[in-house]
Amino acid sequence: MKILVAVKRVIDYNVKIRVKPDNSDVDLTNVKMAMNPFCEIAVEEAVRLKERGVASEVVAVTVGPKAAQEQLRTALALGADRAIHVETEAKVESLAVAKLLAKVVEAEQPQLVILGKQAIDTDNNQTGQMLAALTGLPQGTFASAVKVDGDKLQVTREIDGGLQTVDLSLPAIVTTDLRLNEPRYAKLPDIMKAKKKPLDTQTPEALGVEVASKVTLLKVEPPAERQGGIKVGSVDELVDKLKNEAKVL
Ligand code: AMP
Repeated sequence: MKILVAVKRVIDYNVKIRVKPDNSDVDLTNVKMAMNPFCEIAVEEAVRLKERGVASEVVAVTVGPKAAQEQLRTALALGADRAIHVETEAKVESLAVAKLLAKVVEAEQPQLVILGKQAIDTDNNQTGQMLAALTGLPQGTFASAVKVDGDKLQVTREIDGGLQTVDLSLPAIVTTDLRLNEPRYAKLPDIMKAKKKPLDTQTPEALGVEVASKVTLLKVEPPAERQGGIKVGSVDELVDKLKNEAKVL
């Protein structure tokens, strides 16, 4: 079984986000970038399926600038066998990413495609669902458990108020939720070995997909600064403040 894993280069989740002075976008100058955390979970799940003998090959794919090869090398160090880089300097929206991934799915014919449930930079939560629509493949989104049984896939989904379990027929698409697994760290020898693993570069033009933006970003604003809190002396004082100062009672 071949597994395709989509990984996105995003701003590292530990970094405090800065907005450009003209509010036109987030400032990415000299900012640490990393693999989207939900994509790390996707890579981990694919590698575990390979280690259990369920999968025979794990292919990592990204759409992004030249620097996004760093995240592909990370996926290779974590256990992916080879990588595909769809290289573009454009800011690619979810629909265009899904169209490009659909082309890769068509060429690679994986039995399973694993994506993150959302990218932490734009918080779209769209690409996996759009890819399922474009390819006509069944989808199990927000997965907290995945079990392969022959040509069937059982996915436990995190939904409001509980867990839902669905059976899908392979090939299928899964998007990862936080509790699916705890990703490993790459070991130094694996980071070295990853440098020699195959990485194929393609372009949106060669894949026949238009990546021009259909959405105009009007402005980006940082959240309001939080005011310091105070400690109240009694329940009566709290109720009084809620009534008369915050005016929420
Ligand atoms: P989003 O729909 O943008 O929130 O992203 C959800 C998931 O789609 C991510 O966790 C990735 O697995 C995949 N994805 C989104 N953008 C890209 C990209 N540029 N390259 C590869 N995978 C992507």
